[in-house]
Amino acid sequence: MKHLASKIQPPLAIGVDVGGTKVAAGFVDSQGRISGRVRFPTDKSSPKATLDCIAHAVEAVIDRHLASREEIQGVGLGVPGLVDPERGIGIAAVNIGWENVPVKTEMEIRLGLPCFVENDVKAAALGEARYGAGRGRQNLIYLSIGTGIAAGILIGGKIYHGPHGMAGEIGHAVVDPKGPQCKCGARGCLEAIASGPAIAVRAKEKLLAEQGMGGMVLPTLTHPVLYREGNLSAETVFKAAYDKDELAIETLAEVSEYLAFAIQFLALAYDPETIILSGGVAQGGDLLLDLIRSPLTRQADDSWVLGKVYHPEFVQLSALGKDIAVLGAAALVQIYS
Ligand SMILES: [Zn+2]
Repeated sequence: MKHLASKIQPPLAIGVDVGGTKVAAGFVDSQGRISGRVRFPTDKSSPKATLDCIAHAVEAVIDRHLASREEIQGVGLGVPGLVDPERGIGIAAVNIGWENVPVKTEMEIRLGLPCFVENDVKAAALGEARYGAGRGRQNLIYLSIGTGIAAGILIGGKIYHGPHGMAGEIGHAVVDPKGPQCKCGARGCLEAIASGPAIAVRAKEKLLAEQGMGGMVLPTLTHPVLYREGNLSAETVFKAAYDKDELAIETLAEVSEYLAFAIQFLALAYDPETIILSGGVAQGGDLLLDLIRSPLTRQADDSWVLGKVYHPEFVQLSALGKDIAVLGAAALVQIYS
């Protein structure tokens, strides 16, 4: 850690990833090197407690790095849910219980440093453009596929919000009107079909159907990886697919068709240079990427319209892994201060 710390150079930004389960933070320099990482469980007992918890994480980063406050440009906060970045307000975030929380003002009082607030996925799009697979790109889409699905849209180097701040919330676009119930109230949302939990449900339904049972799934030797870990998760399905389990591959191929629809719409709506996939489901790696690229390549071959936008490298996986959240938050400081 000391070695890493000596490599990063001022001016430094502090990037903070505020999640439903943890607050992660670290120093980021202009080259995207991270140092002084910390991670705390999110205190969700009240909005004030969550803000205190974030401030505590930032102070811990500063203490760990022994940085002077003059070296610090500011603090960027990537927060879940609907955000007003201009006024620095967390308008609505169900998983941390925020409603119209004046995040920027409250954090600046606590820290005495300039603070910048943005929706986490939108901030990550900036992080990719600055440090990741989209380095140097002005027009890109960052598609986060995990427990939820959302896109960060960068147009001309700027995050596009839309008048309601809802631009990119494609997880709740209905892609199958007869599909499964979504927690937003609608039926057949992309998120209800292609999120991590939805992948696990789909695989489980296939297992039950295969066994002709309505109730319990019994261990068999047919799908060893799918059973080994007890509760099915998207990760288990990926592992099984890498082990060439047909049911797992079929599950992912079906889900990938829907993700390919979403990517096609995004591609034709915004004409980006690249679309970068990230989030828990994107941990499916090259196998998932191939399954998503395959219908897109087919469609681009059939249609000159998509063919105009699409090329083999158009859809990529993020190379920044879990660092993207902290890097994206830090990019807010580097771009807006
Ligand atoms: Zn929905």
